[in-house]
Amino acid sequence: MKPYALDTHLVHTDRLLNSPEDGAVHTPTSNSVLFEFEDVSDLEAVFQGKKTGHVYSRSSSGSAVALQNLLNDLEGGVAATVFSTGMAAISATLFSLLRTGDHIVVSQFLFGNTRSFMQALEDFGVQISFVDISDSEQVSQSITDNTKMVFCETIANPVTQVAALQEIGEICAQENIILVVDNTMTPFVMFDSKAVKSSLVITSLTKYIAGHGSVLGGVVVDTGLFDWRKYPNILEKYKGADANLWGMTQIRKRGLRDIGATLAPSSAHPISVGLETLKLRMQRSCENALAIARYMHASDKFKTVHYPGLDTHPHHQRASQLFDGGYGAILSFELADGIDFREYLNKLALVINATHLGDTRTLALPVSSTIFYENGAEQRKAMGISENLIRLSVGIEDTQDLLNDFASGFR
Ligand SMILES: *Cc1c(COP(=O)(O)O)cnc(C)c1O
Repeated sequence: MKPYALDTHLVHTDRLLNSPEDGAVHTPTSNSVLFEFEDVSDLEAVFQGKKTGHVYSRSSSGSAVALQNLLNDLEGGVAATVFSTGMAAISATLFSLLRTGDHIVVSQFLFGNTRSFMQALEDFGVQISFVDISDSEQVSQSITDNTKMVFCETIANPVTQVAALQEIGEICAQENIILVVDNTMTPFVMFDSKAVKSSLVITSLTKYIAGHGSVLGGVVVDTGLFDWRKYPNILEKYKGADANLWGMTQIRKRGLRDIGATLAPSSAHPISVGLETLKLRMQRSCENALAIARYMHASDKFKTVHYPGLDTHPHHQRASQLFDGGYGAILSFELADGIDFREYLNKLALVINATHLGDTRTLALPVSSTIFYENGAEQRKAMGISENLIRLSVGIEDTQDLLNDFASGFR
C-alpha cells in the first residue's frame, strides 16, 4: 500500500487491507464471542499459536484485528493491539513488560490518569524517576543499569511542553532501553514516531482518531525498532520464531487477555470511520488553535498562552522540526488578573465546558480543580500548572466563529 499519499490511504486502507466481504468498504462489526472449529485440531493449533484465528473475543475478534491492521499499517509498525481505552493500552503495556525492581524514566508532565497509574506501579515496586523530558540531559542522567524504559508524551497536556524526542530516542537506542511514546496529542498523520526511534507508540483512539466524542479505545503499536532478544523480561513461552513479535505477544497475553480490557467489536467500527477524516480534522484543528493562540497572545485580556505554534514558546523550534502540518490542537491560557475565569467561560456560547480532548467541538476546562485536582498542589507546580489555568481542546469549527466567541466572553 505504498504508492498513495496518506490522505488516500486513510480512506482506502480498510477496503484494500482487510478486504471485507460482499464488497463492503468498511469491515463489518463481528459480535460473536465464541468461534466454531469444524476440526478440533484447528482449535488446538490456534490456542497453541501454530495457526492464526480467533478462539474467544476477549483475546481477539475480527473487528479488533481489522482495526489493528489499519493502525499498524498507517503507523508503519510490525504489530499492534487495540484496547478498550487509551488508559488500558498504557496500563496493560507497562504492566506486562515491567517487573518489581525495574527502573523507568517517566515524564514529569503527564496526563493525570497516567501519572496516577505510575503511582500504582511504584506501589508494586517499580522505581520511577520523574524528569523534565524537554531536557534530554535529565533523561540521560537518570538512567541506571536497571533502567528498562523511558515513557513520555509528545506534547504535554495542558502546558504543552514538547519532549526532546530526537535526543531521547538516541539515548534509548544507545542504551538499549524501550522508548514508549504516548502519541495521543500528535497522531501519526503529523508525527512519525519511527523517525525518533520509538519502540512502542501508544495512542488513545478516543481522542483525535475516533474524533467525534462517541467511542473509547486505545492502541499500542510496535515500531519494530527495539530488539526484544535483549530484553530480560520476556517469558520463554512468548519467544516465538520472529523476535520482532516477542514484546507484542507478551502484551497480548499478559496485558490484553489476562487483564481483559478488550475493545468491543462495536467500538472498532466508529473508530475506523473516524480514522478516515483524521488528517482533515487535525489540519483544521491545528489551524484554529494557532489562530486562537495568536489572538490570545496579542490581547491584554490574557496573561499567558501556552502553545508550541507561537514563536515565543520555549520549544517552538523543536516542535517545528518534529511535527508535520501544525503544532497540535491543545493550548492553555490564563486570563488577565481581575477577570474571573468561571464568569468568562460561562459566557462563551460555542466553546463547551467539558473534559475531553481531540473532539470536533472546541472544549474548555479549568484543570487544577478538575483533572489535576487529585494530584495536589505540589505535583501541579512541578508540572507547571498554575491554579487558574484553562485548557482548550480546539475543534474544527469555522475559525472566525471561534475568535468571535472568545471575544464575546468579555462583553
Ligand atoms: C486521554 C488520554 C489518555 C487516555 O485515553 P482514554 O482513551 O481516555 O483512556 C492517555 N494519554 C493522553 C495523552 C490522553 O490525552
